[in-house]
Amino acid sequence: MELLIVILLLIIGLLTFLLLKKERVLGIKPEITNKNTEVKIVESKEYRKNIFNLLNSIPEGILILDKSKKIIFSNNSSTKLFDTKINENISGSLRNPDLLSSIDKIFEDKNIPDFEIEIRNKAVLRLNISIYLDKNNLFFDEVSCVLFIRDLTEFHKFQQLKSDFVANVSHELRTPLQSIKMGLETINNIKDLKENNELNNLMPLMTSQSERMENLIRDLLSLSKIELQEHIRPTHEIDLIELIDYVIKTYEKIISKQNIKIIFNKVESLKIIGDRDKLIEIFTNLIDNSIKYSDKNKEITITAKKDGEFNTVSVRDQGIGIPKESIHRITERFFTVDPSKSRSVGGTGLGLAIVKHLVSQHRAEMDINSVENEGTTIDIKFNSL
Ligand code: ATP
Ligand code: MG
Repeated sequence: MELLIVILLLIIGLLTFLLLKKERVLGIKPEITNKNTEVKIVESKEYRKNIFNLLNSIPEGILILDKSKKIIFSNNSSTKLFDTKINENISGSLRNPDLLSSIDKIFEDKNIPDFEIEIRNKAVLRLNISIYLDKNNLFFDEVSCVLFIRDLTEFHKFQQLKSDFVANVSHELRTPLQSIKMGLETINNIKDLKENNELNNLMPLMTSQSERMENLIRDLLSLSKIELQEHIRPTHEIDLIELIDYVIKTYEKIISKQNIKIIFNKVESLKIIGDRDKLIEIFTNLIDNSIKYSDKNKEITITAKKDGEFNTVSVRDQGIGIPKESIHRITERFFTVDPSKSRSVGGTGLGLAIVKHLVSQHRAEMDINSVENEGTTIDIKFNSL
């Protein structure tokens, strides 16, 4: 019996030793925090020091702020990039209204998607920021907010060069093309030439090809302009119902010709912060696609409604649909599912690439659902006012 007690004591001693050793290795100390016997892991100073060392070696900038937006941690990359000082308010080094309001929102426990801002300190910086709320006091003994900052300045400089190049080339092509078009119209009006069979065959082809080239140049110019402005948030209050009514009106002639019906399910008003011309471009492109890729006698249903925290507009058609494997590619520039079909309806594959940038400029989201031979639905989810 005595031997049994000694063995038991030895086992308990060994277990305690192993447990203490594990705590030392992990740097954590389990602690019973409330009567419901819920176990909470309280991080020791040693454990946090290890985390901060790790954060310091990350190339992305990381800032941790308290509720008053005071910087309580800045990793090496952040300090180098923004000259941040501990205990200083974030607005001292990163002054941007979007950023400040997003920090307020995250402390109210709202979801904030990644966003881009421009900071003008010594140089102009373009930053992509993700915000995370540390509710479990992982980093400090209080609720704090963690900013993950990616410096996209170099990437945007490259983008700018590319956009400038495309804009310049497109601009240069436009002038000679307009002269060619004018020439074609003049030739088309010369009576004697109308009897020339060969020319009669060639004229429609030359005219349609020059129109196609003109559309392409217009879209390329529009795309490069939009890319450069993507980070600038629109500021006007827009009623989506009035705007979509306006866009539908511009299609009246075309849809009556093709016997396509547009049904608009709407609420009384649906207000967002946006840019009128750009929103018109978004819905024009979507409706244009629904018409182009549907047969005659089909219906297009547009629904605009409040959807939880979003104001959502969906454009649904009964058209040819998109193959499953191509859905994720249709917002790529110049991508078309069936190039010959697109060419025959005058498509260049730039419409949805433009829409994607405009949607992102509005900080909205785009969802594409489609079933081949049944139809396509595109939802655009805007933040409500
Ligand atoms: P553009 O809009 O520049 O005149 P496009 O319509 O061909 O040309 P996008 O609007 O970018 O280009 O669309 C890309 C491709 O996605 C289209 O070519 C088509 O294959 C497919 N697509 C887009 N919308 C629909 C739709 N509603 N139904 C079926 N296919 C679609
Ligand atoms: Mg299109």
